[in-house]
Amino acid sequence: MKALHPDDLELRNNAHKTALTTGKLFYEARIIWPNGSLRWIRAQGKVYYGSINKPLRILGTLLDITEFKHLQQQKDDFISVASHELKTPMTSIKASMQLLDRLIKVDPSSDKIPQFINRGNSSLNKMQQLVDSLLNVSKITAGQLALHKTHFLAAQMINECCDHVRLAGTHELELTGDTDLELYADRQRIDQVVVNFVNNAVKYAPDSNRIVINISKQDNMAKISVQDFGRGIPPENIPHLFERYYRVDTSGIQYSGLGLGLYISAEIIELHGGEMGVESEVDKGSTFWFTIPLN
Ligand code: ADP
Repeated sequence: MKALHPDDLELRNNAHKTALTTGKLFYEARIIWPNGSLRWIRAQGKVYYGSINKPLRILGTLLDITEFKHLQQQKDDFISVASHELKTPMTSIKASMQLLDRLIKVDPSSDKIPQFINRGNSSLNKMQQLVDSLLNVSKITAGQLALHKTHFLAAQMINECCDHVRLAGTHELELTGDTDLELYADRQRIDQVVVNFVNNAVKYAPDSNRIVINISKQDNMAKISVQDFGRGIPPENIPHLFERYYRVDTSGIQYSGLGLGLYISAEIIELHGGEMGVESEVDKGSTFWFTIPLN
């Protein structure tokens, strides 16, 4: 009783009162540990009655559910981030549809119509990407991410996968190294990893316009790296980058994202039997790389 968090005392007392009438005890509360830290417990029990139907005692368990509560909190946080991320493009689609609806009635030949259709489409694409990420995570958790390997040229895939960056015109992509190297891998999945690296380079290096993609061969492995000259990553954050839902605290700067891209990429590379890593220096930039076996 002394260890119970004062704010949870009433909750505990009410649970005990209820137990006297229902015969069952259940509550979750915080405990102040001797070292001052907080832990969550779950109390569950049954009331035992004497021969004259007088409650004699409660028999049950106290379970430490601190880990469970932390996971639950992480999940709640993630759901709120994901909903927010989906809501942004959805609001934009809704606005485009409303404007189109009005325009078509007032001026069906307006030259603004294609513009709003484009805007709606690009928001829809954004939503599709987000939903794809979520589905990828479910597949990974269920161990159902299957690979379909073929032979293809690394340089060709890289050239084709990053058209959207060239079209946007904000960053220049430089392809260097062994441009004749052939890979044996799941083209679509490796494409996804490269796109993720390049998109991050664009997102987290908004003030520098150079991105260097390098292809090299090391023994029997192919190595592909994407280098940006952006804000870099503090060393203490690097070990967590490939964790699910992890996002570096951007101290006030708001970058959108689910924190899933690198997690999914790491899983794809691991399935290929390769490795993934990063070298980064604050204010100088980052180089994300992966290796996969050549055959
Ligand atoms: P998201 O971009 O959706 O947050 P990712 O898994 O792709 O998720 O990235 C995880 C985190 O790693 C990002 O939130 C960001 O803080 C950091 N990060 C990734 N790529 C870069 C980069 N090129 N430069 C700086 N930080 C990066």
